[in-house]
Amino acid sequence: MSMQLPVQQAETQIRALGHRVTSARVMTLAYLLQADKPVTHDELLSNLALPMDRVTLYRVLDWLVRQRLVHKVTTEDRLWRFIAGDGGSAHHPHFYCENTGKLICLPEVAIPPIQLPKRFKVSHVEVIFHGVCEEA
Ligand SMILES: [Zn+2]
Repeated sequence: MSMQLPVQQAETQIRALGHRVTSARVMTLAYLLQADKPVTHDELLSNLALPMDRVTLYRVLDWLVRQRLVHKVTTEDRLWRFIAGDGGSAHHPHFYCENTGKLICLPEVAIPPIQLPKRFKVSHVEVIFHGVCEEA
């Protein structure tokens, strides 16, 4: 675990990519870095220390996902939830607890390769296991 504050950590990560460090990017990423669970767009909108309009926040989140500083997952409520950290080119599965609503990254669980018909190409993989976690 880094001892850096989320805001410093967010700045460092954005700067390391050689991109412009804006307060919108920093505050959004910082919030996700300190969050203990995946966060929806609306939760961010009402909790961010830096007030932002919906469209700006959509753009910032989009940018963070493209830069692989954040990844996103959707569950049955069809809301995207954002998580700090790289979803990775090696996509990892997630676990959704039906009791607590927790959504957990499982980076150590490999998704087995699948056999696709000829000329089919996968661009995005999403695997979510539903069940109950240890806290349930
Ligand atoms: Zn994840």
